[in-house]
Amino acid sequence: MTYSLYQTIIYCWMAIGLATFILLLKVTAPYGRHTKTSWGPLISNRLGWMIMELPVMIVLMCFVLTNIENQNAVTWFLIAAFMFHYINRTFIFPFRIRTSGKKMPLVIVGSAVFFNLVNGFSLGYYFGHFAHYDLDWFVDLKFISGLIIFISGIIINWNADNKLIALRKPNETRYVIPQGWLFSYISCPNLFGEIIEWFGFALMCWNLPALSFFIWTCANLIPRALSHHKWYKEKFADYPQNRKAVIPYLI
Ligand code: NDP
Repeated sequence: MTYSLYQTIIYCWMAIGLATFILLLKVTAPYGRHTKTSWGPLISNRLGWMIMELPVMIVLMCFVLTNIENQNAVTWFLIAAFMFHYINRTFIFPFRIRTSGKKMPLVIVGSAVFFNLVNGFSLGYYFGHFAHYDLDWFVDLKFISGLIIFISGIIINWNADNKLIALRKPNETRYVIPQGWLFSYISCPNLFGEIIEWFGFALMCWNLPALSFFIWTCANLIPRALSHHKWYKEKFADYPQNRKAVIPYLI
């Protein structure tokens, strides 16, 4: 495939991301606290998370491992950073959440699998065929600042997920109002952290598929945070009024 065809595909994928953003502002994806039985067959949350997240790693690695000659220390570093996030999300996070008996619609799992297949293709194909980084990229300001932002995002995302998971005892499924730390400012520090993380990754990679991945992350997570925020305000009469949804002081 030529780079110009690849570029056209990624631009179309970004446009679909923007359309999805608008759709998700109107329709809340029914998983987690928003899960519904009216969206067809359901599967366990734990299994759902694993099935949803695994494809991106497989597809990306297929393209990379079949084009090893195109890799150098920089591309391996960027790929490792991506895999680091997804190993947690696929194999660790699903076993840490206190989600006993909770389910999600299969259609959500299917759409997330599709999303992850395309992202695995877009990043994997780029690293497999088009990526050319010199080793001095490691000292480029974009790489260094992106790495710092990426690590900060991971720390915020993991810390927030840990705090949310700790709100329940094993086998509990109730919800309480999270308090303290970034929760004093926003309802969803975990989603905020993930947005920061992929912004940092896009900066560190400085390529089209990483930008597209960041756009898609925002398209998924900003509407989800707005839905979580609305849900908190409806469920808890004493929910702190000054909290925003996902960006402190703004949204
Ligand atoms: P949530 O904040 O809804 O849930 C995280 C975990 O904490 C769930 O197990 C949830 O239980 C539990 N929980 C959340 N709030 C409370 C509360 N107030 N009281 C008790 N327990 C609570 O996160 P999401 O499901 O939206 O996302 C999970 C992770 O996946 C996040 O880190 C997010 O960034 C990431 N993600 C990434 C996406 C992407 O496009 N890159 C898309 C979606 C998610 P329950 O499930 O029962 O509600």
